[in-house]
Amino acid sequence: MSEVSVTENADGPAPAGDQLVVLDNVNKHFGALHVLQDIDLTIHRGEVVVVIGPSGSGKSTLCRTINRLETVDTGSISIDGKPLPQEGRELARLRADVGMVFQSFNLFAHKTVLENVMLGQIKVRKTDRAAASKKARDLLDRVGVGTQADKYPAQLSGGQQQRVAIARALAMDPKVMLFDEPTSALDPEMINEVLEVMQQLARDGMTMVVVTHEMGFARSAANRVVFMADGRIIEEAEPNQFFNNPRSDRAKDFLSKIL
Ligand code: ADP
Ligand code: MG
Repeated sequence: MSEVSVTENADGPAPAGDQLVVLDNVNKHFGALHVLQDIDLTIHRGEVVVVIGPSGSGKSTLCRTINRLETVDTGSISIDGKPLPQEGRELARLRADVGMVFQSFNLFAHKTVLENVMLGQIKVRKTDRAAASKKARDLLDRVGVGTQADKYPAQLSGGQQQRVAIARALAMDPKVMLFDEPTSALDPEMINEVLEVMQQLARDGMTMVVVTHEMGFARSAANRVVFMADGRIIEEAEPNQFFNNPRSDRAKDFLSKIL
């Protein structure tokens, strides 16, 4: 993976060609609940955006709409200049550009670790088995679980399983990685091993959207913090600015409860 400075964007507006994920006035309801309200969000290539906010504020729904696991009611989402279509082959291709890591690792229990990381490459990217296997082993090494390749997910710790899930997402060569509370289900001693893999990814220049309660990670890895409440983006700022000097009362209140 090429070395890209992830801090470059912080100095000023990035050129339009650098816009990788663009949400334009996105609205979504679940019945009467207006879960995403007028969301405008642009994520630039190489940028790490950490999304924080109270439970129920719409963070997971935001991630799921970017991956088109959820449709939007109004507004548009584009990935690398292409609007996300409602369905069809084009959707499958664009979705493969968006890697997703969930709180629950969602590995295939009846497949080995290696097979888990090979599967998408073979089915979606039409890679041949030998190349998929080689790439899977390289990625498993990179996230520090190379020696676990022939085990089944249940034989691994939670932290190891989540690192496999990251390798599996990376195997698709995504343009952007979404992480939805990737460490929330982990025992405390396993959180850091997953955050370290994410830190390294960020340093390698991966574009990332990370929903997390790990404020240490947000401070050290994020280019920008997006604070959500009640389905809206209330505030966005560079991490030092956000944590030291939040502007909105909602953010001040939230930070006073978690810090
Ligand atoms: P967060 O991730 O910030 O905790 P979510 O995006 O999961 O928030 O949820 C936002 C709101 O939408 C919550 O009130 C939740 O109960 C509701 N919600 C989420 N998914 C669904 C769904 N599939 N159907 C109905 N309501 C939902
Ligand atoms: Mg959530």
